[in-house]
Amino acid sequence: MRYAAVVCPRCARASAARADARRHQCPYCGTVFQIDQAAVIAVGSAREVREAVVRYNSNFLKPGWEPRR
Ligand SMILES: [Zn+2]
Repeated sequence: MRYAAVVCPRCARASAARADARRHQCPYCGTVFQIDQAAVIAVGSAREVREAVVRYNSNFLKPGWEPRR
């Protein structure tokens, strides 16, 4: 099973989706979006994709970032 790290078009957080899925629901804001219309930052094993997601989302912990609602 291959996975893809995709960036939510609404809240800009990354999450892991199955690479063969067409749609994905963001676990942070609940938005459902088409994977082929979203930015894919990594593709690979579950572990590789999880690490890419953590690395990407760690940017949101920097001072000055505020979530959009
Ligand atoms: Zn989202």
